[in-house]
Amino acid sequence: MLIDPYGRKIRSLRASITKRCNLNCIYCHMDGQLAGGEELSLDEIKRICNIFPRLGVKKIRISGGEPLVRKDCVDIIAGLKNFDEISMTTNGVFLADKAEDLKQAGLKRVNISIDSLKDDLYSRITGGDRKTLLYVKDSLEKAVEIGLTPVKINMVVLDINQEEIHDFIDYILKKGLQKEVILQLIELIDIRKKYPDQADWKKIEAFLNNNGILIGVRKTHNRKKYLYRGVEVELVRPIDAKFCMGCSRLRLTADGFLKPCLLRNDNIVDLKGCSSEEEIERLVKVAVARREPYYKGVVKKHFSINDL
Ligand code: SAM
Ligand code: SF4
Repeated sequence: MLIDPYGRKIRSLRASITKRCNLNCIYCHMDGQLAGGEELSLDEIKRICNIFPRLGVKKIRISGGEPLVRKDCVDIIAGLKNFDEISMTTNGVFLADKAEDLKQAGLKRVNISIDSLKDDLYSRITGGDRKTLLYVKDSLEKAVEIGLTPVKINMVVLDINQEEIHDFIDYILKKGLQKEVILQLIELIDIRKKYPDQADWKKIEAFLNNNGILIGVRKTHNRKKYLYRGVEVELVRPIDAKFCMGCSRLRLTADGFLKPCLLRNDNIVDLKGCSSEEEIERLVKVAVARREPYYKGVVKKHFSINDL
């Protein structure tokens, strides 16, 4: 078991397999990666990631950039061994076509990023067009159909799409997806200081407190979960000390650095060129020892019904 100096257990690895993307979201933080660098090969990804289960890290999430732009994305999933759960975060554009192969290869579930169901707003936020959004909606249904569930819809809530939360709930109910789909509302992290207008989170939380039922707080990041009109809604509000104290993940960048924190690049650990498993294991422990909550503060313990 890997435990950092603040007593936080490492439960999952978030591995970016590429920095490339077919969309261009206005807010994108690229999972906190620096630009440039050479992508790890399939063998390098396998060699690094497959060290983790024996260190007690049994969950892995594949991310990007857009992971499905890599031609070998199915081989990457198939090459991951001894994990209890392999999941992926994707913008969904290429998912419908690849979903069955990915599932066959061992993928358990997906998060699909959809910030708007309206053509014009989707386009404004992501750069994709009407057809792109249709592919993404198809992917959502396909993922549910073949059991890559629960599927989370990742919606980064901005000032311009916050009113659409209701439309997402209506859409999930209209399609009858409420048993398999969770709506995950994500607070913008404005890393590039490009997007100053946050959504009105006080209003969103007050609305859910008044109209939904708080069904739990996940250990991971202390995320609140509500049930609203029969749909599960999860809040990802990263900008506080509670979130950081609940952080249980280590990150691998597409070019082979371990990142102890999404929001920092001054403490990363270079794994490139490491071929021996012992050396990789040693460097993983170095990265864990460098973990430190970005936001610190007096942390009040939350009750925890779910530890998903
Ligand atoms: N391309 C894939 C996608 O969009 O799902 C995976 C990579 S993307 C960086 C991973 C997740 O981070 C997406 O759900 C995306 O919406 C979210 N994200 C990206 N930039 C963000 C930001 N500045 N603040 C909050 N979430 C962000
Ligand atoms: Fe960033 Fe994902 Fe949007 Fe691509 S699809 S720009 S990686 S958030």
